[in-house]
Amino acid sequence: MLAAPSRKETPVPEVARLSVELVAWTEFRPPTDLPWRSQSNDGQGLIEFAGRSCYRAWERNNPATATNAGYLDHLVEVGHLAALEHASATFYLTGISRALGAELTRHRHFSFSELSPRYVADVARIVEPAAVAADPELHAAFTAGVEEAEAAHRSMLQAMLERYATSEAAGLPRKAVRQAARTLQPGALETTLVMTGNYRAWRQLIGTRAADHADRELRTVLIECLRRLIGLAPAVFADFAVTALPDGSEVASSLRVGDQ
Ligand SMILES: Cc1cc2nc3c(=O)[nH]c(=O)nc-3n(C[C@H](O)[C@H](O)[C@H](O)COP(=O)(O)OP(=O)(O)OC[C@H]3O[C@@H](n4cnc5c(N)ncnc54)[C@H](O)[C@@H]3O)c2cc1C
Repeated sequence: MLAAPSRKETPVPEVARLSVELVAWTEFRPPTDLPWRSQSNDGQGLIEFAGRSCYRAWERNNPATATNAGYLDHLVEVGHLAALEHASATFYLTGISRALGAELTRHRHFSFSELSPRYVADVARIVEPAAVAADPELHAAFTAGVEEAEAAHRSMLQAMLERYATSEAAGLPRKAVRQAARTLQPGALETTLVMTGNYRAWRQLIGTRAADHADRELRTVLIECLRRLIGLAPAVFADFAVTALPDGSEVASSLRVGDQ
């Protein structure tokens, strides 16, 4: 018999705060034997270099595309988006829910490293949906539900550790026990992601998943990414506009992102 889940023994879960940190990005050094330099030595310069290399267009005869910003604007305008794939940015996301992690990792042009609950078993922080947190009654019900789920998870973990410690024939490694028990954990538990993508993939993801029909937590995370991307590469991302909805949340959109 399993011990009955005890909410008293389960600490009230701490609420995780979202953190979106830009931790890596592209640096550009032009070929030394080329009599051409970009105004940018990051991903924006690399994209311009890649675009110009297609036509050996090292002269800056056209005023509209003479600057790095003008050149990149033209690439996006005409849909020459493959050049944007040369530059990439990496974020470290913490304080996001496992439910959100499952959604983000469906996007196939990104590379991910996610916190492993098989190895890190003591994750106790939760991410509460904004629509729940705003209502005291819903907040209380949500907290109680998370505590119950966590109590059931701990109870199952303990029972499995005891069961397989005493039965050599059926002995399971500790990480396999954790893997089985974690299936009882809620999607509200915190996870962390290291997420890398090229500029084209970031534009496509933000354009489609920071829109008003998308999940609020997803929008919040992607708009924070967007703000940092605009700071990093304004010539690539500054066409996105962030606007507020009546519920206080935000959406991002660009007239230039269709089915890119
Ligand atoms: C409103 C909504 C509801 C959803 N509901 C469900 C659901 O009920 N069940 C479920 O499983 N998922 C669901 N999803 C997730 C969805 O099916 C996708 O897995 C997720 O949104 C990733 O989208 P994507 O494949 O377009 O994007 P990405 O993987 O980011 O790819 C970006 C783009 O690259 C191109 N591309 C990528 N891979 C290929 C390929 N193999 N072949 C051709 N083109 C490619 C496509 O143009 C694609 O749009 C839902 C998503 C949304 C937005």
